[in-house]
Amino acid sequence: MDISDRYLGRPWHALALFSGGLDSILAIKVLQEQGLNVLGLHYVSPFFGKPHLLDHWKKTYGIEALPVDVRRLYLDMLVAPEHGYGKHMNPCVDCKILMLRHARGLLERFGASFLVSGEVLGQRPMSQRADALNLIRKGAGVADILLRPLSAQKLGPTKMETSGLVDRSLLPGIWGRGRREQLDLAAHFGITDIPTPAGGCRLAEAEPAARYLPIIINMAEPGPRDFHLSHLARQYWAGPYWLSIGRNEQANEALEAACGPNDLRFRLKDVTGPLALGRQYAPKAPTDARPEAWPEHVLADAAAFAASYSPRARAEAEAGHQVTVLLLRGGEVTELSVIPARQTPLNWAEPKSSALNAWKKRKP
Ligand code: SF4
Repeated sequence: MDISDRYLGRPWHALALFSGGLDSILAIKVLQEQGLNVLGLHYVSPFFGKPHLLDHWKKTYGIEALPVDVRRLYLDMLVAPEHGYGKHMNPCVDCKILMLRHARGLLERFGASFLVSGEVLGQRPMSQRADALNLIRKGAGVADILLRPLSAQKLGPTKMETSGLVDRSLLPGIWGRGRREQLDLAAHFGITDIPTPAGGCRLAEAEPAARYLPIIINMAEPGPRDFHLSHLARQYWAGPYWLSIGRNEQANEALEAACGPNDLRFRLKDVTGPLALGRQYAPKAPTDARPEAWPEHVLADAAAFAASYSPRARAEAEAGHQVTVLLLRGGEVTELSVIPARQTPLNWAEPKSSALNAWKKRKP
């Protein structure tokens, strides 16, 4: 049974974008207080979504929500968002448009007549200015069916209010960046478990956003498993070559689990050290390099670099000895003898926020 089936046939009045943040909780609570049935849609992408908390939200806040996986759709948008990125790699306006447009397509299935979002006028610089709210409403094709209950008194009346389906006089008029009014409203509903304000979107955080850039720039078809890999371990790039190196045993296991059929694994043979994973992929543009099938000199360079993260292998290097690195490709195992080195001809480097900022500036 599809998980959404359990919510079918119930008398839903509205579907709400539900991140699990305080604003999205309150947006649903103020409508529940009017006797309206609102089903939350919890969107999940490689960058946000906590579907494991669905039961917690139901128990703690009395909110039922359905996980909605939009990974593929989201990645297609992220590569070239029409309205650009915010401070990091967050395409907030396009993100909201994508989710609302998708939610609009679910209304009929659930017998609901309007959409709800917890946006607060003036709260965020990119997506919650008055002009951005309008742009989102129109871009998603939901101008007549979207209610933003938390800022309702600061926005024009919607059809849902003028028709009497929603009592506008009972809706708040919150605006701006403060949280006082939201906290007062939470107290009114007896909510004591207040989610932390950080939105939980990795696209809006500096370090993960910097890690995503080389994936987007270099790969012909970046997929969810590529962004997942970028979260797991130390990340290094040498031109289009991508190497992930485990930080500890847990990360080594995560890398092992994330290994795909075309991936390369580098493992020290006789001394302990991290697992390193090289991802081979089809490049976005023609290049003299071969990220889809690493040449011998790149394999040797990556092996020497990865080995340098083992203190015992480094000690061997200081004594002038080579170490043996096992290269695992599918079922094939090759031995590479290398001198561990942090500085190698290929110059592996971690992705930097400055590169992301420069790239955004160059974009038309
Ligand atoms: S912070 Fe992330 S989830 Fe929120 S609107 Fe922006 S891109 Fe979307």
